[in-house]
Amino acid sequence: MTRIASHRGGTLDYGDSTPFGFRATAALPLEEVEFDLHPSRDGAIMVHHDATLDRTTDGSGALAHLTEADIRAASINYGVDQHPISLKELCAIYQHSTVSFRCEFKPDQNGAPYPNFVPKVIEELSRNAMLERTGFSSFLIANLDEIKRHTSRPCLWLVSPAVQKQLGISTVVEVAKRHGIPEIGLNIDHANEALMQQVTDAGLGFGCWAAHTQTQITKALSMQVKVFTTDRPNLAIALRNTFIQEAAS
Ligand code: MG
Repeated sequence: MTRIASHRGGTLDYGDSTPFGFRATAALPLEEVEFDLHPSRDGAIMVHHDATLDRTTDGSGALAHLTEADIRAASINYGVDQHPISLKELCAIYQHSTVSFRCEFKPDQNGAPYPNFVPKVIEELSRNAMLERTGFSSFLIANLDEIKRHTSRPCLWLVSPAVQKQLGISTVVEVAKRHGIPEIGLNIDHANEALMQQVTDAGLGFGCWAAHTQTQITKALSMQVKVFTTDRPNLAIALRNTFIQEAAS
């Protein structure tokens, strides 16, 4: 069965990386919750998509230049009384959930990996008994290399359409294998069955990201990709249930 990952806690259903969305996702019949992390200036690990507060909140500035209190004070757009939370709080929300973590390491606002951030996150996940329920993802090979140095937990390479176009799928597979990355994810609009076949024939897992519309979600389910991320977890669950019922009849 294709796995569903609620992207940023289900952005189009519940707002972008809101506590409300993360709590709602924890109770949904799906397999993964996807989220992104950034360090605060005073050493906290905060759950937020962008490296800055500007686009999705009423605050501004790079998270890495702000204190945890500054970040918590920001109101998330369209999320009534919703403010960014820490990784520790996210772990508490999922303690009794059956949903697993899909943790993405984002670059800083200039596109570079945060120094010494990966081991810190792994330590925090471990301390909160969530490491064994976490898979990691990143667009950055440097981050994936570092993840592999610190944990044997699964990781996957998010391949951007630009990288996919520049390298071609054969080289993408070659790079993944050279770096010991067991799985890749393509943007759903740039994925097809032939590409999936080539990737799985090479022994790598194949998933998709950004399946938000009915057409995109149906495509991911029809292809039977391993996993896809979606901003609309409730629609994805409904469509998957229909698929399962049709397959059974
Ligand atoms: Mg992400």
